[in-house]
Amino acid sequence: QKPVPSDIVISRSCVPKPIDRLATEVGLLSDEVELYGKTKPDGKYVVVTGYALYNKLVVYVVCTSRITPTPLGEGKSTTTIGLVQALGAHMKLNVFACVRQPSQGPTFGIKGGAAGGGYSQVIPMEEFNLHLTGDIHAITAANNLVAAAIDARLFHEATQTDKALYNRLVPLSGGQRTFSPIQINRLMRLGIEKTDPTTLTEEEITRFARLDMDPDSITWHRVIDTNDRFLRKITIGQSPTEKGHTREAQFSITVASEIMAVLALTSSLKDMRQRLAKMVVATSRSGQPITTEDLGVSGALTVLMRDAIKPNLMQTLEGTPVFVHAGPFANIAHGNSSVLADKIALKLVGPEGFVVTEAGFGADIGMEKFFNIKCRYSGLRPHVVVLVATVRALKMHGGGPTVTAGMALPKEYVEENLELLEKGCSNMRKQVENARHFGVPVVVAVNAFKTDTESELDLICTLAKEVGAFDAVRCSHWAEGGAGAVALGQAVQRASEAPSDFKFLYDVELPIADKIRIIAQKIYGADDIELLPDAQHKVELYTKQGFGNLPICMAKTHLSLSHEADKKGVPTGFVLPIRDIRASVGAGFLYPLVGTMPTIPGLPTRPCFYDIDLDPETEQVNGLF
Ligand code: ADP
Repeated sequence: QKPVPSDIVISRSCVPKPIDRLATEVGLLSDEVELYGKTKPDGKYVVVTGYALYNKLVVYVVCTSRITPTPLGEGKSTTTIGLVQALGAHMKLNVFACVRQPSQGPTFGIKGGAAGGGYSQVIPMEEFNLHLTGDIHAITAANNLVAAAIDARLFHEATQTDKALYNRLVPLSGGQRTFSPIQINRLMRLGIEKTDPTTLTEEEITRFARLDMDPDSITWHRVIDTNDRFLRKITIGQSPTEKGHTREAQFSITVASEIMAVLALTSSLKDMRQRLAKMVVATSRSGQPITTEDLGVSGALTVLMRDAIKPNLMQTLEGTPVFVHAGPFANIAHGNSSVLADKIALKLVGPEGFVVTEAGFGADIGMEKFFNIKCRYSGLRPHVVVLVATVRALKMHGGGPTVTAGMALPKEYVEENLELLEKGCSNMRKQVENARHFGVPVVVAVNAFKTDTESELDLICTLAKEVGAFDAVRCSHWAEGGAGAVALGQAVQRASEAPSDFKFLYDVELPIADKIRIIAQKIYGADDIELLPDAQHKVELYTKQGFGNLPICMAKTHLSLSHEADKKGVPTGFVLPIRDIRASVGAGFLYPLVGTMPTIPGLPTRPCFYDIDLDPETEQVNGLF
C-alpha cells in the first residue's frame, strides 16, 4: 500500500471545483449565494444567504459522535468527511456535511487544523482553518462591544448623578428629548408606560437610568481567538483617566463566547436579534438580571453579526458540499455546528438525501447536547447516530498506558492485544447505550489505522453489535477516501430506514438539580450529584429569575465519562461535584461547571505556529497539518 502523504499535501493536490458551480449543483439559486473574496483565484467560498429556505421535508440527519476521546485521536471529523464522500461521490446520493469552523487558537497552538485528514478532508484546508469569511472575528467584535458597554456604563453611573445620567442617555435633539426604540423596550420591561421623556417621575428616572450592576456579579468576559493564557485574569481600568475604577476581569477564547452559541442555535435574523437582546451580563444590586438590551447594545450586535449568520459553502476532496458554520466550545457551550446550516442542507438534499452533522467531544457531551439542546431548539430529529471508535483509543480505555503528544506509541497500541481491546470496549458499550437513550439507531464506525489487525477490527464490530448497535463497520476513508467508507454509508442508509423512537432525556420543566442529576446518572453513570454552595446559590437565583426551565449544558471534561480526566473506561461509584452554574440566557441554556474549566487555552513550548509561514512567490500557506 502506498504511504499516505501529509494532510496539506493531499489537500493541495486537489483542484477544488469553482464554488459557484458547486452552488448550482446543490440547488442554490444565484441570488441565494454571495461569492466571497474577489481576489481569490476562483472565488473559493460562498456564503449562503437563503436562511429562510427551510420547509419541513423529511430527510435524514446523521450525527457523528465518538467514544470518550483520548490523546490518540479518534478521527471524528475525518469520519464525517469520509462518510459524506462515500454517500455522495460513490453512492451517488444527495448529501451535505455540516461542520464547525475551527478556532484559530488551536490551529496555532497544539491541535493543528480540524478539516479532517488523509483522503477525507474539507478543502482548501488553509482557508478552512484560518479566518474563512471572518465569522469568528465578527463574534469577537460583537462580544467586546458588550464588554466595553458594561465597563463604560459602570463608570458613568459611578461618576454622574441620576439626572445627569438621564439627560445624557436621552439627549436633547432639536429642543426635544426622545427615547430610542431600545429605550422604549426597557421602559416597558420596567413597567413604565410612558413615551414622553419629560413626564417621568424622579423615581422612574433613577430606575430607568441606573442599571446598578453589581460588579461582582458580572459574567460577561472579553474574548480573543488566540491561546493567550496570561489573559485568564487581568485588571482593567488602570489608566488614570478611569479614576481608580479598576476591576478584575478575564478573557475567554472567542469560540467560548455566548454569541458563538447564539449563532449556532439561531433560526433566523429575527430570532438572532431576540437572542442577542436576552443575554444576561450581570445582576443588579437588587437581584434583577441585566441584559444586553438594558445596555442598549443588542441592535448594534445584530448589525455586527448580520454576515456571520450566513453559512459558508465549501467542499470535500471528492467535490461533495460542506457547510462550515459556527463552532461553539463543547464544554461551556454546546459544541455543535449551526442549526441554520443543518436546516438549509436538509432543504437542499431533499427527501432522499443525507445531512451528516458533527457533534463535538465524546458522545456523553457533544451528542447529549446535540439532542437535548440543539434538537430541542431546531425541532430536527436525527435518524441515525454514527459513533466513531478506534482500536488504539479503546485499548487506552482498557487500561493501556497514557501517551502525550509527540511521544512514540507504546507497543500496546501498535501490536495486537485483544484482551486490552475487549476490556476497553466497555466505553463503547456505554456510549452506544447513551445514544440509545434517545431512541435513535447507532452505527459504530471503526476508523482503521494501519497497525490495527483483522482480529482487532472484527472484535470491535462483533462486540458493538452485541451491545445494541444497529450495525458496526470498519472503514478506511483516511487512507482511501470515500471508497473506504462505502460499507459505512450503506450501513447508515439501512439504519436510516429502521424504526426510531426519538425522545429527550429530560423534561426542561423539571427543577434544575433534577435535570443535572438525570444527565449525571443516565449518561455518565454517576451515583448522584453534589451541589457545592455556589451552585446551590445559582439554582435559587436562576429559579427566581425565571431561567429554571432552560436545558442544561454540562461543562465537564471530555476525557472521561466521569469528572476526572484520568479515569478511563466506564468509571463507577462516583458523585459528580457541581462547583457553580452559569446562565447563557440568549443562547438558551444553563451550564453547570464540573470542576474548573479554563475558557482560554495556553500555548505549549513549541506551538504549531513555528511551522507556519507564507511562501511569498506562490502565496501558499505552509506548515498547516
Ligand atoms: P477528531 O475529530 O476526533 O478530533 P480528526 O478527524 O480531526 O479527529 O483526526 C485527528 C488526526 O488524526 C488528523 O490529523 C487525522 O489526519 C488523523 N487520523 C484520523 N484517522 C486516521 C487514520 N485512520 N489513520 C491515521 N491517521 C488518522
